[in-house]
Amino acid sequence: MTQDTNETATLELRDISRRFGSRNVVDGLSLRLHAGQVTCLLGPSGCGKSTTLRIAAGVDQQTTGHVLINGELVSGDGQHLPPESRGIGLMFQDFALFPHLTVAKNVGFGIARDPNRDVRVRELLGKVGLEDFGDKFPHQLSGGEQQRVALARALAPRPAVMLMDEPFSGLDNRLRDTVRDATLELLKSEGTAVLMVTHEPEEAMRMADQIALMRDGRIVQSGAPYNIYNSPVDRRAAAFFSDIN
Ligand code: ADP
Ligand code: MG
Repeated sequence: MTQDTNETATLELRDISRRFGSRNVVDGLSLRLHAGQVTCLLGPSGCGKSTTLRIAAGVDQQTTGHVLINGELVSGDGQHLPPESRGIGLMFQDFALFPHLTVAKNVGFGIARDPNRDVRVRELLGKVGLEDFGDKFPHQLSGGEQQRVALARALAPRPAVMLMDEPFSGLDNRLRDTVRDATLELLKSEGTAVLMVTHEPEEAMRMADQIALMRDGRIVQSGAPYNIYNSPVDRRAAAFFSDIN
């Protein structure tokens, strides 16, 4: 992937740092995301991935640096737009659907005033292979099905940016592959820019157009998955990937 300089990024993190106490948990991190591309923020536990994602979402605030969406400043220089005003979709491991609402109502939740809501809900349920599940309740669905509903719900308002933190880690191995494939297909068909956090190299290799390899609050290498896999920047990066067979 080329590191463009001119094209406006859908999401740009510009020299972000986040200090907790005396420690910079995120330390001068910059990242650019583009429509239709999945970027995986990959690194070992504790390296600052979730903090970075939370800053991009606006549920946490950087100590220094800027967050831009479609070229507009959303956080920095004394400004801070809340998550709901950023045009983003969020998905975490703990994706909690509304238990008292049907699947269709869950998916339509964020677009209640859209006159085309029902069409959009049907379209999304079709895309995640759950067209016949609209009238069911969450407890009647498997974990993988619930996950797909959560994804459809997050994408319903057509967010420019989708932020996902280890979204598949709650699923068992048997389900994970199927849900990953369905997720990737849906994200691609929607053309959303995606930032997905994972600590699993294999998952990043499978999902990403671009991997940003993170360590100790910084990005140590970024690029296409096969480039990172074939030409790791140092021994630690190589070791991190060595478990993939
Ligand atoms: P990752 O998602 O890569 O596992 P995190 O971003 O969750 O890493 O955390 C990075 C480091 O920052 C960890 O050492 C964690 O304990 C610390 N940290 C995260 N949130 C806070 C907080 N609110 N207060 C203090 N330390 C925190
Ligand atoms: Mg995390």
